[in-house]
Amino acid sequence: MQGAGFVAGMIFFASMVSVTWAQVPQAPPYPAADDRYKADILVVVAHPDDDMAAAPYTARALDQGKRVAVIFCTRGNFGPNFLGREQAASLGAVREIEGRRAEAALGVYNVWFLNGSDTPGQDVLHSLESWGHGYALDQVVRLVRLTRPEVIVTWLPFYLAGENHDDHQAAGVLATEAFDLAGDPVAFPEQLEAPHDPEQISNYGEGLSIWQPQKIYYVSDYSFSYGVHSDFMTGQGPQYRTDEISPTKHVSYAQLTFDAWMHDHSQIGSGFTPEQMKEYLSHPMRFIFGKSVVGGSPTGDILENVKPSGVPFVEMIGTHAVAEPQPALALGGPWAFYRVFWPAHKLEHLANLLEPETAMGTHDFHLWVPLLLHNASGSNQEVTLRSKLPAGWRQTPGPMLYKLGPRESRPVSLSLVAPEDQKGTWQSLVFNTESDGKVVGSVTLKVNVVYNGVPQ
Ligand SMILES: [Zn+2]
Repeated sequence: MQGAGFVAGMIFFASMVSVTWAQVPQAPPYPAADDRYKADILVVVAHPDDDMAAAPYTARALDQGKRVAVIFCTRGNFGPNFLGREQAASLGAVREIEGRRAEAALGVYNVWFLNGSDTPGQDVLHSLESWGHGYALDQVVRLVRLTRPEVIVTWLPFYLAGENHDDHQAAGVLATEAFDLAGDPVAFPEQLEAPHDPEQISNYGEGLSIWQPQKIYYVSDYSFSYGVHSDFMTGQGPQYRTDEISPTKHVSYAQLTFDAWMHDHSQIGSGFTPEQMKEYLSHPMRFIFGKSVVGGSPTGDILENVKPSGVPFVEMIGTHAVAEPQPALALGGPWAFYRVFWPAHKLEHLANLLEPETAMGTHDFHLWVPLLLHNASGSNQEVTLRSKLPAGWRQTPGPMLYKLGPRESRPVSLSLVAPEDQKGTWQSLVFNTESDGKVVGSVTLKVNVVYNGVPQ
């Protein structure tokens, strides 16, 4: 009896299911991602007018029907003002509109400003601290997921004399981190949560999807320059002529960039004249290849091999660099950060661009040199730190004996002052550690002795 009842029940249940199936309404389609914000190329820079470093290329990409979006990590609030009296936050308000007008002149309207405060200096870690690294990264990852770019163009994450504005480097660091994180479902998952009822207020869950960009390229203040120091960029990535005529605008890409750049009016003055801008733009512009998840040649076209249909997440971030043996003496601070940042983000080739170098600070001929002493042995060690400086340089503190415990790392900050008569020259500073009468560690730092070595 029990078996017959079970079969009858199953027949009743099956007929009930088929009736219900026929009666349920069709679900409405799930809203697509907003196509107005889709970009092929996302430019991530620090200050209004930094975007001009890439503009001869982005104007060309716009001619090819590509979509471009721009992120400014700051409003340039602590730069100079050559036009009006506004400074600080009010200057930031001025610069935001200037930046939007400059991009609109090129044909770019999807422009975002993050809340980082302009932090003039040379230490990338200072900018990341000032901006709130995690908060800023959250914002950049969100905008990568919103704009879904195939290619990211950003500042070079590298300590480079003449390109050592810490904000520029910080923009490059954030864009590189976002390249590796935006496709990772574990990173900022609240951005990926489906909103509970999009047609009601007070939703949480941002409704974005993961997104893996395919290529990342870097620009530098040397992108246009062909001075002796800029040779390091040659052959590191694609190069584009700026004198070619835009088929849609009928003027050169240099002219298009110049016309857009003039909107950054508060920044154009004695420090940077229209004549200097024209000279700057008369050279071809060069990129440094970062990395690609779709292959292609480092010097090939930026859009070479790009897949319009998108690519799956590629896990990139590693921590193997941390395990590398530490030298007895190394540059600390931002240099120590980059030593682990580049390999962790599969950018090992950036370590070979240039030997360590710097320029003088913003206000005088002072130079900060962070060093890291390391005792790799399992016993106590005494080391003496001495410097070999060019004539006329002063250093605080002077030679000193340091006692290091087993496997201890000890940061040392040196403050140096260059003589004014060396202004405009390059000098080499050598720092040695000695133990038991032998040199056990050595670091050489090249210095460009320029007043206010920080570009804007
Ligand atoms: Zn800048």
